[in-house]
Amino acid sequence: MTYPDTQLYIHGQWQDAADGRTLPVFNPATGGEIGRVAHAGHADLDRALEAAQKGFETWRDMTPAERSRIMRKAAGFMRERSADIARLLTQEQGKPLAEAKGEAMAAADIIEWFAEEGFRVYGRIVPSRGNLALRQMVVKDPVGPVAAFTPWNFPINQVVRKVSAALAAGCSMLVKAPEETPAGPAALIRAFADAGIPPGVLGLVYGNPAEISSYLIPHPVIRKITFTGSTPVGKQLAALAGQYMKRVTMELGGHAPVIVAEDADIALAVKTAGGSKFRNAGQVCISPTRFLVHESIRNDFAAALAQQARSLKVGDGLAEGTQMGPLANPRRLTAMAEFTQDAVKRGATVLAGGERIGEAGNFWQPTVLADVPLDAKVFNDEPFGPLAAIRSFETLDEAIAEANRLPYGLAGYAFTRSLKNADLLARRVEVGMLWINMPAMPSAEMPFGGIKDSGYGSEGGPEALEAYLSVRSVAVMNV
Ligand code: NAD
Repeated sequence: MTYPDTQLYIHGQWQDAADGRTLPVFNPATGGEIGRVAHAGHADLDRALEAAQKGFETWRDMTPAERSRIMRKAAGFMRERSADIARLLTQEQGKPLAEAKGEAMAAADIIEWFAEEGFRVYGRIVPSRGNLALRQMVVKDPVGPVAAFTPWNFPINQVVRKVSAALAAGCSMLVKAPEETPAGPAALIRAFADAGIPPGVLGLVYGNPAEISSYLIPHPVIRKITFTGSTPVGKQLAALAGQYMKRVTMELGGHAPVIVAEDADIALAVKTAGGSKFRNAGQVCISPTRFLVHESIRNDFAAALAQQARSLKVGDGLAEGTQMGPLANPRRLTAMAEFTQDAVKRGATVLAGGERIGEAGNFWQPTVLADVPLDAKVFNDEPFGPLAAIRSFETLDEAIAEANRLPYGLAGYAFTRSLKNADLLARRVEVGMLWINMPAMPSAEMPFGGIKDSGYGSEGGPEALEAYLSVRSVAVMNV
């Protein structure tokens, strides 16, 4: 399947921007242009907003069973088309084909879980304090048309979590998907379009992110904002939403600690945390980043992780056997060079990688840095790339204090064979998601989200649906 140009999807129609503007899309493995994406202007956004309002009025008044049927059909299309969709994702984003196919297949699972959960938007009947003729009801309604902003690291997954929860709750959604990876999100929206979603219930636009968000967030049609991306941008958008009293879900950056306790299974820790580290070339908000290893096992752990990093096959995600693809854009290459140089300048040792690979494409060696000082940039700012930074600790309390030092609080990992340690870590590590003795396993049915500067709201479990519902009290006196 050749890589397509991507259009906007407005009021049930695939279309170019009104003024015909487009942006180039590049393959990060080659640096070459592979297609174009339509760039929406205000005229396009106005039509998309009008459609989102009409779409909401249609979708809100459909039964959960009708919505669920369309959602399930879309999930089926995602599965059937996953091999073709994977090739698009790999070409625009760089991840290995197997990871790309996994993303398309996981989207189907997420849609299906929410299609089912949509049947369980329950209200309550609350007994009256003093009068049996009074019937007090708690009712939940869809909040209204939603504006969603999603990033390029998981072009489909970041959209599908938002779309599925919003649709299950009865909301319409206008998605501003990433310009750098537009075909994956378009394939997802196409699955819903082909499944028969009524016009306007879903819209898809691309363009200038800041221009679009500053137009959509204040717009009276939009009742809720959901954003996934960096903490600084999230804070700006949340502040704007606050000015207009719009509901908000924010999935922001992280800087996940990995605490490897004295009694940990080192081989398990290296295999699982190391595997997670280099998935999607580390461009994952829940990627393990700050490795905190007990001093007694620090050398063994660091050597094994470096060995694992060196053994990875890096290459074009379309090539057979590739385990790690290129970085998604040249900005990440620059960032990896800066993080590495800064850490080395401050005294860290490079145990593996640390260099760009070749001149064409955005390839960076899987990198392991040891003895990284606390003031190194990589121990403070989210690296968002294939870079593992290791430090040692003496006591678990010290490791927990370091885990909690940063304002981020998204994901965390720990390895220990002691129940007492596991319990202490579960209570004290300030993250939205903690995985002990295992890799990250986000699923549709578990809450997904951060605390502290990593955001608020959840994109999994029943909580994800609540984010798209308004609660109202209705009291009726039977006279
Ligand atoms: P960035 O901070 O400029 O952009 C991050 C995302 O936000 C992009 O998708 C971008 O289109 C969007 N964005 C930026 N400004 C916006 C605005 N005013 N309105 C609406 N959307 C806006 O930087 P970047 O170079 O694309 O990514 C770098 C950093 O972003 C990474 O280091 C990482 O911390 C973060 N990021 C996080 C995630 C995540 O899953 N949480 C995904 C991608 C990037």
